[in-house]
Amino acid sequence: MIRAIKIGSVLLGKENSIVIQSMTNTRTTDIEATIAQINALQIAGCELVRVAVPDLESAHAIKEIASRVTVPLIADIHFDHRLALEAMKSGASKIRINPGNIGSKDKVSEIVKVARERSVAIRVGSNTGSIKSAYLSKYDRATALAESALDQVQLLERLGFEQIVISTKSSSVVENYKSNVYIRKKTDYPIHLGITEAGLGDAAIVKSSIGIGALLMQGIGETIRVSITGDPLREVHIARTLLSAIGKTSEPQLISCPTCARTEIDVEALAKDVERWLSQSRINAPITVAVMGCVVNGIGEGKHADLGIAGTKTGAVLFAKGKIIETVERSEVRERFLKILGNSIGGGS
Ligand code: SF4
Repeated sequence: MIRAIKIGSVLLGKENSIVIQSMTNTRTTDIEATIAQINALQIAGCELVRVAVPDLESAHAIKEIASRVTVPLIADIHFDHRLALEAMKSGASKIRINPGNIGSKDKVSEIVKVARERSVAIRVGSNTGSIKSAYLSKYDRATALAESALDQVQLLERLGFEQIVISTKSSSVVENYKSNVYIRKKTDYPIHLGITEAGLGDAAIVKSSIGIGALLMQGIGETIRVSITGDPLREVHIARTLLSAIGKTSEPQLISCPTCARTEIDVEALAKDVERWLSQSRINAPITVAVMGCVVNGIGEGKHADLGIAGTKTGAVLFAKGKIIETVERSEVRERFLKILGNSIGGGS
């Protein structure tokens, strides 16, 4: 059993569901912009938000930000222990540091003391840029990455601190996978999963889906961040889709066929309409909706769908669990399908 770690109002580990997190890309000192982004992330489904703390001004800004948002905040700190202390005093529920980069043991002890007093969790770990050279000469890269992270954990444990979340990240999916499997065998602390510097668009989505998804499907990982260059809202949307695809959430799923020469309706346009509808309706149930181009394969392939549509020569048929429930004319396809969707599944129109 993975031990439970509390981050503000959010519990990681034990039987709790996988927690989605993201990171703001506003200046933390721009309090209004940062709060607006945090709120947007929360509405999109983000449960923990990390903010960068590059200076004391940013650490102090957390005070007002934390007082005006309800999602727990994580302060991202590099090197300077004073920033960690100020961020915690300002209301951060978790800090991300690498004790090995903080300097003297006294400085790390100071951080631990304040973290304990304020019930702040600490995320420690490693990435490919922080692997200790001693480990690289002793182990393969994935193991060296994991051992570097465990080294940071032991530093905190020696100070009697155990409110730890551990992360080890590589931009290599394979290295990332092996490293996290290794860590899971060695510790019962919650693991934060992500592919670091995953890049842009499609490449980032593919890397994150495999890199995070493969581990989650083995029961490894308690919180995830999809890292993608650009708008962090996209990270949350991808994270939710990822969790839904592997059955870790009870969100609706859209299936649609790739289209071919048999296609009788505009599958892409209709699928986009349905996706938008499902997203706006905020249905929290594991229903499946199918949009298929033809009846030849469509109904059979979508037979597990709670509601589906398949194109015909004259329009389309609507089906539920593989059984046809209605025939519609070509001119009515979109309108009728969205209406039936609203009536049968509810929550939108
Ligand atoms: Fe082609 Fe029909 Fe399959 Fe869609 S469901 S890909 S239209 S055969």
